[in-house]
Amino acid sequence: MERVWLSIGSNLSNPLQKVNNAIKALKDLPKTRLVACSSYYRSRPLGLKNQPDFLNAVVALDTNLAPGTLLIYIQKIELCQGRIRTKNRFGPRTLDLDILLFGKKIIIENHLVIPHYDMYRREFVLYPLSEIAPDLKLPNGVLISNQLQQVPFNGLTCWGKKDV
Ligand code: ADP
Ligand code: MG
Repeated sequence: MERVWLSIGSNLSNPLQKVNNAIKALKDLPKTRLVACSSYYRSRPLGLKNQPDFLNAVVALDTNLAPGTLLIYIQKIELCQGRIRTKNRFGPRTLDLDILLFGKKIIIENHLVIPHYDMYRREFVLYPLSEIAPDLKLPNGVLISNQLQQVPFNGLTCWGKKDV
């Protein structure tokens, strides 16, 4: 079994429902157990500003699936929730599931890079991750609590609160 951390993001077509459905689907994955789920956060969009806020969360799984197999399963979940891939990587999306960490594995393949290439700089990944893994040592050797000090909140709030 490996401990895996996934990030979840959605900013279209009822993000709350999309994220809840994604978590249900993750619970049903074969050879996998959902161990923890962060609160739901609201973040400002990266890149293209003229789009709705994102709902972000991070979950922990224990799995016996291989990394490439897990990737295929999470892409199926994205598609089931109506994801249409567009060219703009920073545009709106119904659901985005990314593998942040897969145990201590370092993977650099065409379709899979782990640790996720931008996880150290994204407030909407690091804060939810630290909520469910406060003592985590990141693969760069830095404790998550120390990494957070380099990453401003950037307007991150609770999903439930609209104007904070
Ligand atoms: P992004 O998540 O960067 O906004 P996409 O969700 O459209 O973009 O993913 C683009 C591609 O990134 C996927 O087809 C997948 O093969 C690849 N990819 C590489 N590393 C990862 C990872 N750690 N988790 C999820 N997808 C990844
Ligand atoms: Mg993705």
